Amino acid sequence: MATDAQPPPKRGATLTLEIEKFADKGMALARVDGFVILVREGVPGDRVKARIYKKKKRYAEAEIEEVLEPSALRTEPRCYYFSTCGGCKWQHVQYEAQLEAKRESVEGALQHQGGFSLDNVEVQPTIGAEEIYLYRNKMEFSFSAQRWLTPEEIATGRDFDTDFALGLHVPGNPFKVLDLKECHLQSEVSQRLVNGVRELAKAEGWEPWHIRKHEGFLRHLVIRQGTHTGDLMVNLVTNGHHPERMQTMAAYLQATFPEVTTFVNTINTGVAQTAFGEAVHTIFGPGVIYDTIGPYRFEIASNAFFQTNTRQAERLYAVARDMADLRPDDLVYDLYCGAGTISIFMADAVAHVVGVELVEEAVANARANAAHNGVENTTFVAGDLKELFTPSFIETHGPPDVLVVDPPRGGMHPDVVKQIATMRPERFVYVSCNPQTQARDLEMLSEVYSIEAVQPVDLFPHTQHIENVVSLRAIG
Ligand code: SAH
Repeated sequence: MATDAQPPPKRGATLTLEIEKFADKGMALARVDGFVILVREGVPGDRVKARIYKKKKRYAEAEIEEVLEPSALRTEPRCYYFSTCGGCKWQHVQYEAQLEAKRESVEGALQHQGGFSLDNVEVQPTIGAEEIYLYRNKMEFSFSAQRWLTPEEIATGRDFDTDFALGLHVPGNPFKVLDLKECHLQSEVSQRLVNGVRELAKAEGWEPWHIRKHEGFLRHLVIRQGTHTGDLMVNLVTNGHHPERMQTMAAYLQATFPEVTTFVNTINTGVAQTAFGEAVHTIFGPGVIYDTIGPYRFEIASNAFFQTNTRQAERLYAVARDMADLRPDDLVYDLYCGAGTISIFMADAVAHVVGVELVEEAVANARANAAHNGVENTTFVAGDLKELFTPSFIETHGPPDVLVVDPPRGGMHPDVVKQIATMRPERFVYVSCNPQTQARDLEMLSEVYSIEAVQPVDLFPHTQHIENVVSLRAIG
């Protein structure tokens, strides 16, 4: 049947739109005669007036000029920097609706990337966090010699000093650093530290990093906090070693922030925008912090990987442990084990756990963590799973009863997936921070494994990120 659909709208056009659903990257979807329009900060149920700022062949992107009728799912964002910062794209969405949107995104991934039918697979409601603000145990702020102003700051008409900023950069653009006076992701002391360190640095005349010229002294301020222990690390990343300045900073921190338990200085003289560097000097305190997950205590160095939401990590690991249905004689493989947190968390219920991890330092941390917690039935192996995970590895360590994997965002290498299919341990738990690559990997295994349960866990309120745990059983 012929339709009399209008041609797609043009760039610059202003339209009235009804928002249907959430889409990727904090956008929401509306349609005009079937043509997709992705609306920044839209919420399903909104009626908005929006202006198209980008037009592609198959879709356009628009920003809201006016909310004509707000969705019932809207709420007031807490942060002044909400629209510009983009760190928390969903602060304007009620938390329950965020959780449901994440559950649906897992369903979408299983259907579209995995080819699974929702008739056979049920995705459980997302396990939400009790604390939806101040939940991160680590924040990395950047210094910049070119401050990026928010539209609200520009609208004040005031003259801003734009050659010093300490804050977060606009997503995907390290050149645009906002000078943040508030951020509700870490603790209240973390907010005060950002403001205090900025004031001191400016008063002392220390130069912030110039990202284009690759010069300047101050590069990053990383704050790590033990959620359960109260330990607090300040890590100042600088271009070059300047002991006198570090003594000035140490004296300031000790006088003004008695909460700080350790202060370290990372030296990064390279051009890469990273808080890692070629050396780490401990200026005061032990140089590490501790945090606990369940009954276990973990040592966290300035550059060690540790889940950034401690309370929800504990829930995530509890889900994985539950799904693994552990038995006293089990041999468990924990692949992509990082600093051994999951291995250690499961070890007391089984005979032995073998953890495998690429990064040597993380493996050293895993061994130390096991030893400090009196966990004796773990073995940690360093190496790239793609090369390491072969029949001879299984001959050496024994055939596993349970396999737990927790790969990075890219998912598993196909060779690792193939090896899992061949080895086919009875129970298999796949923890993932990217449901799309997870679904892709699981599709390759759908002939040999059936999905038993799917449980999303929210570690990152106000963002689209979700951790998803899938429990599988070998077929036949
Ligand atoms: N399970 C851990 C860490 C998961 S993060 C926790 O919850 O704390 C994923 C880990 O996979 C990282 O530590 C990363 O270094 C490791 N990794 C990435 N590619 C790898 C590979 N090819 N082989 C082995 N480990 C890898």
